[in-house]
Amino acid sequence: MGERGILIVVSGFSGAGKGTVMKEIMGQYDNYALSISATTRKPRAGEEEGREYFFKSTEEFEKMIAKDELIEYARYVDNYYGTPKVYVEEQLAAGKDVILEIEIQGALKVKEKFPETLLLFVTPPTARELRSRLEGRGTETKDVIDFRMNRAKEEAEGMNQYDYLIVNDVLEECVAQVHQIIQGEHRRSYRN
Ligand code: 5GP
Repeated sequence: MGERGILIVVSGFSGAGKGTVMKEIMGQYDNYALSISATTRKPRAGEEEGREYFFKSTEEFEKMIAKDELIEYARYVDNYYGTPKVYVEEQLAAGKDVILEIEIQGALKVKEKFPETLLLFVTPPTARELRSRLEGRGTETKDVIDFRMNRAKEEAEGMNQYDYLIVNDVLEECVAQVHQIIQGEHRRSYRN
């Protein structure tokens, strides 16, 4: 049997660019598997079922909870988001490092269940940059942007529970840094 993969949680302010960072990592390296979450949020323009998310009705989502099919779930801006269990288990067993891109409440639940999880927090260099990235996305109304900025303030308080804080200023550097941290974690777990 090969070595089991590492579970990695990546959180960050909405607008920190973590989606882009994760896409780059998946494109550049083949030892990672990206978990696809279930959500009750409506698809944004350009999003596809089974690619960004599995889009569910509230009823369907609550059924997944009842059947214990999720590793964790949380509510965020009035929607459910959760991590399906089966895929993560399969990929870890196959030796892949599995990345969950989830918000902070979910991240802390995963850490509680699996204490060896590596928690990474991605942030833009400044609050002003955060707001301009949120506005630049052009998919959100002003109310939602304000809500997400406020939520970011709350999330900042949880940042200190993460293993690494990563500033996403230059994308390529950020990608390399995340990869290095994960490789370092592999070396550490060999030693133990
Ligand atoms: P968005 O609506 O912008 O795609 O995602 C909103 C937030 O939900 C982001 O912070 C994202 O990381 C988080 N999220 C996505 N999937 C999950 C999940 O499965 N569980 C939890 N707890 N949060 C998630």
